[in-house]
Amino acid sequence: MTAERSALPAAGPAARGPIVADMVVARRGPWSSILRTGECLTIVDLEGNQAVDFLVYDAHDTAIRYSAQQTMAAQGNIFLVAGSTLLATGGEPLLTLVDDEVGRHDTIGGACSKESNSLRYGDHTVHQHACVENFLAEGARWGLGKRDLVSNVNFYMNVPVEPDGVLGIVDGISAPGLSLTLRAERDVIVLVSNCPQVNNPCNGFDPTPVRMVVTGAPAAAR
Ligand SMILES: [Zn+2]
Repeated sequence: MTAERSALPAAGPAARGPIVADMVVARRGPWSSILRTGECLTIVDLEGNQAVDFLVYDAHDTAIRYSAQQTMAAQGNIFLVAGSTLLATGGEPLLTLVDDEVGRHDTIGGACSKESNSLRYGDHTVHQHACVENFLAEGARWGLGKRDLVSNVNFYMNVPVEPDGVLGIVDGISAPGLSLTLRAERDVIVLVSNCPQVNNPCNGFDPTPVRMVVTGAPAAAR
């Protein structure tokens, strides 16, 4: 780990328990991990304004998976904020957002794909790398395929809803070094695409790396 990466956010992983993994996900790349109950994942937006497309499954039964509908209905809000719990299809708690330095994360914008890119931005974008390809490549490690890709979370992505109901994809409100921390409420698989999109402002037109820090449950909670 380089010196610059060792500057942990003030309320971040150091306060949550012993670090069990600490790595950087390359720009445009995928990542996945198991989190055991009580472990925390801190995602650091190293250079700011980087969308992190995110899915989560019960590690023992991947049919129990993140549900945007359940999560939004339970909290009565379409954005994820500190205190939000990501729920599964049957209402099972998967992860809780225990720390958040940004204050708004998207639940409805979905993941970019070569199909949506070509529809929105033209046929010349059909061969650009996209989040769905990341999800499929990384998900295959866990036996997950296309049917398992449900509507995902976009951490650090700013998708405001206008008064007439239109969704915007606009400049992010994150900044370099800001972070969020999720606590596992059961054993889960987290599946990430560090979004490669270059056709809209979700990554500031320049995808950048993010840092993933997994911390163990504090001794008292084991
Ligand atoms: Zn994307």
